[in-house]
Amino acid sequence: MSAASQYETHETDVLIIGAGGAGLRAAIEALAQGARVAVVCKSLLGKAHTVMAEGGLAAAMCNVDKSDGWQPHFRDTYNGGKRLNNWRMAQLHAQEAPDRVRELEQWGALFDRTADGNILQRAFGGHTYKRLCHVGDRTGLEMIRTLQDRGVEMGFDVFMECTVTRLLKDGDRVAGAFAYWRSSGNFVVFKAKAVVIATGGIGKSWKITSNSWECTGDGMALAYEAGAELLDMEFVQFHPTGMVWPPGVMGILVTEAVRGEGGILRNSKGERFMEKYDPKRLELSTRDVVARSIYTEVKEGRGSPHGGAFLDISHKPAEYVKRKLPSMYHQFKELADVDITKGPMEVGPTCHYVMGGIRVDAETGQASVPGLFAAGEAAGGMHGANRLGGNSLSDLLVFGRRAGLAAAQAAKKQAAPSIDGGQTDDAAREALAPFEHSGGENPYAIHHDLQELMQNLVGIFRTDADLRKALVELDTLKQRARNMSATGSRVFNPGWHLCSDVRSMLTLSEACTHAALARKESRGAHSRLDFPKTEEEWGKKNLMIARKGDAMTLTEVPRPPLPAELEKILAEGS
Ligand SMILES: Cc1cc2nc3c(=O)[nH]c(=O)nc-3n(C[C@H](O)[C@H](O)[C@H](O)COP(=O)(O)OP(=O)(O)OC[C@H]3O[C@@H](n4cnc5c(N)ncnc54)[C@H](O)[C@@H]3O)c2cc1C
Repeated sequence: MSAASQYETHETDVLIIGAGGAGLRAAIEALAQGARVAVVCKSLLGKAHTVMAEGGLAAAMCNVDKSDGWQPHFRDTYNGGKRLNNWRMAQLHAQEAPDRVRELEQWGALFDRTADGNILQRAFGGHTYKRLCHVGDRTGLEMIRTLQDRGVEMGFDVFMECTVTRLLKDGDRVAGAFAYWRSSGNFVVFKAKAVVIATGGIGKSWKITSNSWECTGDGMALAYEAGAELLDMEFVQFHPTGMVWPPGVMGILVTEAVRGEGGILRNSKGERFMEKYDPKRLELSTRDVVARSIYTEVKEGRGSPHGGAFLDISHKPAEYVKRKLPSMYHQFKELADVDITKGPMEVGPTCHYVMGGIRVDAETGQASVPGLFAAGEAAGGMHGANRLGGNSLSDLLVFGRRAGLAAAQAAKKQAAPSIDGGQTDDAAREALAPFEHSGGENPYAIHHDLQELMQNLVGIFRTDADLRKALVELDTLKQRARNMSATGSRVFNPGWHLCSDVRSMLTLSEACTHAALARKESRGAHSRLDFPKTEEEWGKKNLMIARKGDAMTLTEVPRPPLPAELEKILAEGS
């Protein structure tokens, strides 16, 4: 039976899965190339996780610090990533980010301004110069609003509240996707000449996280299942400052812009403890360092009452704080009954971002499977072992554009795909399986257990014993997940939706744990208590995860040498 005959079916040139910054920027570029574009997203258009981004977008515009340029931005990014980044991505990112910001401005984004009318830039951890273009602490909202308006005006088709559960293939080539409408539970088939994955991160696998409900790693799991490779999955960033109190809001982000605007971290003794861990950069050290410092202060008994540290911006004028950090002011006032213009916030590390992701070609975002592209947080390589703040929003624009361009060009060379009905029937059977397992496992219980396990065993500090234990426990969770059960109907059924999210989270958690066990050193966001040093040998390889039959395999991939031009830029900064 043909795919089209049984399910609602849509055909397009380029299918983009995800409507965050990366997906929208890819869609705009594919449209500009004359492609028909469909964007599918599991939340509402305009509600993608990118909307939550606060502090800003890093680009060497040189509006505030004239000494900046793409070279220092490259150097900061590469050093911040502990030199494990895909150097070509880090170079393209630094070179192209300013143009992507100017373009955003031309499309209507209203950034904060310098006195002479240029885009204002603020300081952020690990950036040598003031580099973050921002709109108060609501930069993501402005970015999504602008991109969305532009895309709608250009004419993409949007399929929102629609979750993709499987990629479909025509021979070896990715040629579409299978999805369900969240409202009705009915199935949809998308046929496309090229597919871009822009589904964001994996943070919902950890208990304390800044990530939104969408961040279950679906796109990476879909790509992995379709035969694509995942890169450097051990590198998961714990942002140093999430809320720690009250319990219901634990993990919600406290933007780095608080430190960028002069916020000071202190322990229960009133000591400015960053003087000890990074006396030069203090609070504006890189996130991996600040997160470990807070964690260490708490472990050694100098934490705040609710297990964090104090972050204080109240030495700045109240009006300034309210103008520069309006969301933080309201967040603490409403959620914790704390006035941050009068006293400190309590903060602690929260799972925030994954540096690893789908392995892609730097120029095009092409994954290792034909027809498949990836951009944004779902793609790996750009940030190496640790991402600098502000470098994600710029990454979305630079590589979203590149993936959209390459996908549209690839689509031009393709005939309309043909997808056999066996694939769609399999995907439907898999999606409906939880209704067959009456009295089986509760997906909420499995998700809860997964979050506890990843938080406790695959967190900021890792050991061989913990990681091995995690793999055993993940195996048990995978067995339990085979018997996940959904009750009720397919209409608006969040328990059923979670069953598919849990499958993705289990795959990505396993990939992360395998890679974390294999990397026997500490580097960037990956800290091994049993291998505390950064080892030169490990700096020569990335770790790649791929699927062989039903097994997850891990391969060490030698890193290509850095060109002399980039070596010189790095040497100039040391
Ligand atoms: C609170 C917070 C503040 C941040 N602040 C900053 C900042 O100031 N600067 C910065 O550079 N970075 C910041 N970040 C990081 C940055 O926001 C993210 O890395 C980035 O927005 C990810 O964008 P994306 O386009 O890759 O994916 P997302 O914005 O996560 O979008 C993913 C899209 O994929 C869709 N999707 C997912 N799964 C499926 C599926 N199965 N089927 C269909 N659709 C699917 C979702 O619905 C969504 O539309 C912040 C992160 C957080 C949590």
